[in-house]
Amino acid sequence: MSITENLARVRADIYDAALAAGRDPSSVRLLPVSKYHPADQIREAHAAGCTLFGENRVQEMAAKHAELADEGIGFAVIGPVQSNKVKPVAELAAELQSLESLSLAEKLNRRCEALGRRLPVLVQVNTSGEPQKSGIAPADAVGFARSLQGREGLDVRGLMTMAVFSHDEAEVAACFQRLVDAQARIRDAVGGGYDELSMGMSGDFRIAIAHGSTCVRIGTAIFGPRLNLR
Ligand SMILES: *Cc1c(COP(=O)(O)O)cnc(C)c1O
Repeated sequence: MSITENLARVRADIYDAALAAGRDPSSVRLLPVSKYHPADQIREAHAAGCTLFGENRVQEMAAKHAELADEGIGFAVIGPVQSNKVKPVAELAAELQSLESLSLAEKLNRRCEALGRRLPVLVQVNTSGEPQKSGIAPADAVGFARSLQGREGLDVRGLMTMAVFSHDEAEVAACFQRLVDAQARIRDAVGGGYDELSMGMSGDFRIAIAHGSTCVRIGTAIFGPRLNLR
């Protein structure tokens, strides 16, 4: 299957999952995740209508940005940001979905204010409780949201999570529900906002859409297996 064919199938599956959940299909955006895949594959997806791509390593994002930004292609950072990588994120990323510490928020905010931009960000929440996963604890969501208020360099749009990797659909669904619950508590505390819920990947996006996902991050189902050997 080509990337173009994979994209058509994934888009149809998103559409069907949204209708099955009684939702407007246009309320779910697709973020193709291009990490580890070369520029030509991104070009093929771009030709099929995608303009924003997810990358989980800042260095790879910066390299692909240098190669592809002129062609109208942008990148969302979806992985950990070390403090020495704040600058390229502030300067190059179209959005950051993996904000998970106050120190990162402070550094990014300062950089973005200096650049005169408001970077769209999502707060990553660790809804599976697995130590190897990034994100703030659900119990800290309200406090963290409060600490982000008034930061002019950050446009806080919502929450992101990765569910547990499991064949048990109920366990996966419980993770997504924890993100929905965190959103409700934050909205109560700060008076609204946080509309975006980025949840769902190749293996679990249908479940995520049933639980209210507004952004699914899909790599393998579009680009095929990753060669994690570079
Ligand atoms: C790699 C990655 C994805 C995409 O995963 P697939 O299973 O290949 O669809 C989604 N979100 C994050 C944060 C990732 O790192």
